[in-house]
Amino acid sequence: MVLIPSLPTALPQPLSPPASDAQLEALATDLLAAGLAPLRQSAQLEALSADAFVYSPVLAPLLQGLRAQMGVRVSSSEQVLRVAAACARHGVSLTLRGAGTGNYGQCVPLAGGLVVDLTGMNRLLQLDAATGVFSAEPGILLADLDQQLQAHGRALRLLPSTVRSASLGGFIAGGSGGIGSLRWGFLRDPGHLLGLEMVTLEPQPRLLQLDAAGARPLNHAYGTNGIVTALTMASTAAVAWEQLVLEFAHWDQALAAAQALPASALQLNALCLLEAAVAAQLPWPQGCPEADGRSHRLLLLAAPDALLALPALLTEQGGALVWQAPQGQSRGIPLRELTWNHTTLHVRSRDPGFTYLQLLLPQPEAPALAALRQRWGADLLWHLEAVRSMGSQRLACLPLVRWRGAEALQALIDHCCALGCVLFNPHVFNVEDGGLGVVDADQVAAKAAYDPAGLLNPGKLRGWLER
Ligand SMILES: Cc1cc2nc3c(=O)[nH]c(=O)nc-3n(C[C@H](O)[C@H](O)[C@H](O)COP(=O)(O)OP(=O)(O)OC[C@H]3O[C@@H](n4cnc5c(N)ncnc54)[C@H](O)[C@@H]3O)c2cc1C
Repeated sequence: MVLIPSLPTALPQPLSPPASDAQLEALATDLLAAGLAPLRQSAQLEALSADAFVYSPVLAPLLQGLRAQMGVRVSSSEQVLRVAAACARHGVSLTLRGAGTGNYGQCVPLAGGLVVDLTGMNRLLQLDAATGVFSAEPGILLADLDQQLQAHGRALRLLPSTVRSASLGGFIAGGSGGIGSLRWGFLRDPGHLLGLEMVTLEPQPRLLQLDAAGARPLNHAYGTNGIVTALTMASTAAVAWEQLVLEFAHWDQALAAAQALPASALQLNALCLLEAAVAAQLPWPQGCPEADGRSHRLLLLAAPDALLALPALLTEQGGALVWQAPQGQSRGIPLRELTWNHTTLHVRSRDPGFTYLQLLLPQPEAPALAALRQRWGADLLWHLEAVRSMGSQRLACLPLVRWRGAEALQALIDHCCALGCVLFNPHVFNVEDGGLGVVDADQVAAKAAYDPAGLLNPGKLRGWLER
C-alpha cells in the first residue's frame, strides 16, 4: 500500500526548547576560547536561518521568522570539533548551513540554537588523476569545484541548477540530483559518494573517516546525523556541452522527442521540456528568441559528437532548432538556469501565485499527463526533466501548480499518486516525507551513534522523533 503523506500544519514534535541565556553565554565563552566569533546580531541571525522555503506556501507560514539564537563561521575540521564539543557540553542544538539554497527549510533551525556556516571550508583537497576520484571540503561552491576539476579534464557528475550558489556539502546533505541526472541518476545512487570525514556531536567529539557504506546514512540526511567535514566522490570526464533550444508546435511530438532522445546513443547531459505557457515566462539566453507562447520548448545539453545526428533526428520528431551555443561561452543566462527548480524560480518571479510539485511520472507518461490536465486544467503547467531512475530512463515532472490552498494541493497530490506518480513532496520539512515517505533505519541508527542527545537539526528526521 502506498502511503500518501499529508501536508504539515504545525512544526514537528517533540522539539527541544530554545537554549536559555545561561546556555548561550556558556557556549559563547567556549567559542571565543576556540578563537571563533559568536554571531548574535539579529540581521546576521536572520540571514543564517533562512533558505528558499518560500516556494512552498505550506512551509512558508510555518518557517517564516524561525531564527537561530547564535551563529558561527568555521574554516577547518579542528574548529568544527571545538564547536561540536561546546554544543554537546551545553546542550545547545546545532544546525549546519552551506549556502542556504535548499527548498524545504532544510537548514532552518526549528528549535533555535546555533547555526554553523561551513562556507569557509572550501578547498579541493585531492584529485586522483587515474580514477578521477576527488576529496573536497563541504563548503566549497559547486561551480568553483567543477572549474577546478575541469582544469584536469574532469567534471562533477551531478549539479543542481543552483550550481553557481550552492555548496557541495549542502548538495549531498540536502539535494537530490539535477543536471546530469539523465546519465547519472540521483545523489543517493551507490557509486557517487565514496566516503566522507565527519565529526560527531558529543562532549568529546570524534573525527571519523567513513567508507562508501558508512557514508550512506549521512547522504541526504539534512545534517541530522553527523557534521560532514570532507567528501570523497566520483567525477566524470569533462565534456564541452552544447546548449540547444528546440521548438515544437505540438505537445505530443515534444513529449515523444523527450521520451526518445534519452533512449538513443546520443550523449546528453540534460533534457528539459517546457510547455508553451511556461516557456513564455522564462528569460532566455542572449541571442535566443523569446518564446511565442504557442510553441513548446525542449532544452538540451548535448555532447559535440551528438550534434552530427541530432538535427536530422529532431526534424523527424517535428522539432525546430531555434538557438545553439557552447556552455560557458553564451551570454546572459546559461541554459541550465532555466531547468530544474530554476524554472519554478523564474515563473514565480513573474507570478508568485504558482508553487510546484516533484513527481516521477508512470510509464507511459502521456495518459497520466492527460488525466491530470483534464481535471486540473491551466492550474497545472508542464515542466518535465529526463532522469535515470533505478537504471531506467524516466521522465520526472516539476509541474507549476496554481496555489488554491492546502486542501486543493492535497487533492492534487492524491490524484497524482492514484495515477502511479512517485511523489517527492517539496511541501514537507522532514527527510522521509520529502523522499519516498519511509523511515531509513540506518539514518536513525547513525543519529543514535553520532548525535546521541539529538541536537543536530532537531525536528527534521521523522524516524528519530517516532522511535
Ligand atoms: C532555484 C533553485 C533551484 C534548485 N535546483 C536544484 C536542483 O536542480 N537539484 C537539487 O538537488 N536541488 C536544487 N535546489 C535545492 C538546493 O539549491 C540544492 O540542493 C543545493 O545543492 C543545496 O546546497 P546548499 O549549499 O545551499 O545547502 P543548504 O541549503 O545550506 O543545506 C542543505 C542541507 O544540508 C545540510 N548540510 C549542509 N552542509 C552540511 C554538512 N557539511 N554536513 C552535514 N549536513 C550539511 C544542511 O543542514 C541542510 O539540511 C534548488 C534550489 C533553488 C532555490
